[in-house]
Amino acid sequence: CGIVACRMDESAGPFLIDALKLLEYRGYDSAGVAIRTVDGTTASSRTTQRVETLERQLDGWVGPALSGTGIGHTRWATHGAVTETNAHPHTDCLDRVSIVHNGIIENADALRLRLQTTGHVFASEVDSEVVSHLIEDELIVTGDLRTAVTSATAQLDGSWAIVALDAQTGRMVAAAHRSPLLVARSGRGVFAASDINAIAEWVDEFQAMSDGDVVELADEFSWTRSGAHSAPPSFVASTWSGA
Ligand code: GLU
Repeated sequence: CGIVACRMDESAGPFLIDALKLLEYRGYDSAGVAIRTVDGTTASSRTTQRVETLERQLDGWVGPALSGTGIGHTRWATHGAVTETNAHPHTDCLDRVSIVHNGIIENADALRLRLQTTGHVFASEVDSEVVSHLIEDELIVTGDLRTAVTSATAQLDGSWAIVALDAQTGRMVAAAHRSPLLVARSGRGVFAASDINAIAEWVDEFQAMSDGDVVELADEFSWTRSGAHSAPPSFVASTWSGA
């Protein structure tokens, strides 16, 4: 139902909570965040309560310090009950790749069966979880998150706005197809969101993603576009902030 992501120098927690609160008006049944720690592990928190519950859980976090790289999600369940286990972010078997997904993966059952026969163990009932396992497999082959997300999404049918975070390297990649997602930037960092209103206070300019786009959220966005949209897009100033 809503996605946010950031890569900043300052801690990611306040941004993610702020943005998820601004997405609350769209309605949701669960919410969650995954933030990379400075040790290259993932701190993750999920709830079927309000975003305030996540905020309290993050405030009480004990463990390695949280970095400026993280992803957040508000869920409107389509596959699988409303439980904490089914809430996003979802991870792979190695706990290395975390993903948030909006949309529906129509061939999730077939992909899940195939992944299970090659040893993948699933933690949830959600269609989205196949995405983290597909990326894990591709990452082992290519070692490159952007290539891995491109190959993984090429196997999907349905609709998706996805942001994947590799805790080991801190890289973050967004992909979209028939589900809204935009990437944005400012002096504070680079961002992604399904709705500009959720992040307008934090960004100066943004660009909506088109179907088939895969974008690495790095200091300079590196953009893979398919089909008719072969040219890299130019950014649009965000008139929502300040003025
Ligand atoms: N299909 C996914 C689920 O059931 C994503 C739903 C959404 O867009 O929030 O969790």
